[in-house]
Amino acid sequence: MSPRPDLGPRPRLGYATSRLERAAERRGDAPAIAALEADAAARAYAIGGEMVALKKHASGLDPLFTMAEARALGRTAEVVFLGLCDGAARFAVGLDPATVEALKAREEFSLIDLRSIAVRGLVEGDHLPPLAEAKALLNWHARHRFCPNCGAPTQLVEGGWRRDCPSCHAQHFPRTDPVVIMLAVAGERCVLGRSHRFQPGMWSCLAGYVEPGEAIEDAVRRETREEAGIACGRIAYFASQPWPFPTSLMIGCHAEALSDEIVVDQAELDDARWFDREEVALMLARQHPDGFTAPAPVAIAYHIIRAWVEGDVAFD
Ligand SMILES: [Zn+2]
Repeated sequence: MSPRPDLGPRPRLGYATSRLERAAERRGDAPAIAALEADAAARAYAIGGEMVALKKHASGLDPLFTMAEARALGRTAEVVFLGLCDGAARFAVGLDPATVEALKAREEFSLIDLRSIAVRGLVEGDHLPPLAEAKALLNWHARHRFCPNCGAPTQLVEGGWRRDCPSCHAQHFPRTDPVVIMLAVAGERCVLGRSHRFQPGMWSCLAGYVEPGEAIEDAVRRETREEAGIACGRIAYFASQPWPFPTSLMIGCHAEALSDEIVVDQAELDDARWFDREEVALMLARQHPDGFTAPAPVAIAYHIIRAWVEGDVAFD
């Protein structure tokens, strides 16, 4: 194996490791939720679709609003209870599209999509996990106003963690969509791919949704075979990351590649190829002679790739 490259301290994975205590036992107690919301220490994130409202301060951008400030932003959709931070409640307030447009014109606010906020490090890292929670949950509400069982309008209950149908009495819970994201490796080489939507020169892990009735390991093998034509054997779980675009959970793995010839699925990928470890280290360090890059450290792909480059992958 080539010498371990020095890539500096490992950066924090975005959206993961929340400081919020979700306090799920409080959700069903509507008066308690109302009291938390009325407390002067309560704070809210305000999100409309992809856009997060941020207050402009001399020192930077602040994503936290008092409840009164959040309600004064304009017409709002759902208010959901995210949890407690040092004993104070955090909520998410959904902004309707007209409110988002109106706020863009106001000097004291910035409306920025969450992906850009995370990649550019525009807010303190501890805000990213609750922002992910807020965005994913508000997105679910926006798309589940009607009962999928009978078509009647549904009602928000449990502090925003369930919607009930008053007609057929079905209960609906927020969904999370599992996605496998993996690096197929063989000795000193790994397979990286380029999606059609990537910026020029960027290469990353392959990824795809886990299908119904499918184990994570089987999804890793199927997606790697479908997208790059590579057969995989043993799978090693690495880590996971909430990915609120809109409601995914990225499940990071390393996969033992058993075949060599790459066959790219052009519908899914722009390209896929083998890279050797030294070349990938240069991509992570943003020193590749051809300008090739790996994803930003906020994304789990960076960490999956880096763990392999640093020799920290073992298959049982
Ligand atoms: Zn119903």
